[in-house]
Amino acid sequence: MKSLNAQTRCLCGAVKITVDKINPEFTVCHCESCRVWSGAPYFAVQCGSAVKIEGQQKVTEYQSSSWASRGFCSDCGTHLFFKMHKSGEYNMPVGLFQHLEGLKMDMQYFSDQRPDYYCFSNETKEMTKAEIMDYFAADI
Ligand SMILES: [Zn+2]
Ligand SMILES: [Zn+2]
Repeated sequence: MKSLNAQTRCLCGAVKITVDKINPEFTVCHCESCRVWSGAPYFAVQCGSAVKIEGQQKVTEYQSSSWASRGFCSDCGTHLFFKMHKSGEYNMPVGLFQHLEGLKMDMQYFSDQRPDYYCFSNETKEMTKAEIMDYFAADI
């Protein structure tokens, strides 16, 4: 985790987000939920739980699984976060942040659900659905 004080906002500006720490080694998730939600694979940076959200009344949270919710601006639809219920940790779309340094595609989740109409040339770690379920089972 890198310490910084990154600020961002949704497209319409109703929601402002301040993050203390971001891991610049981001993850791409190919699971079906993320592809439906994002319209493409979800490029996510880990932001920990020290996240300040202004304009909370404009944030709609959709509980997309028993362990996590996805949040978006109810005015402009900007996707804001994927939040783990148990840990309270946020993963946010890397595209929300304009000036992050040291970004590196580090991991691809649900590599076995990656469709065959795209591929990345980045060399990354990968985890299949079964590996993810094993790894995170303790957290869920
Ligand atoms: Zn908005
Ligand atoms: Zn996913």
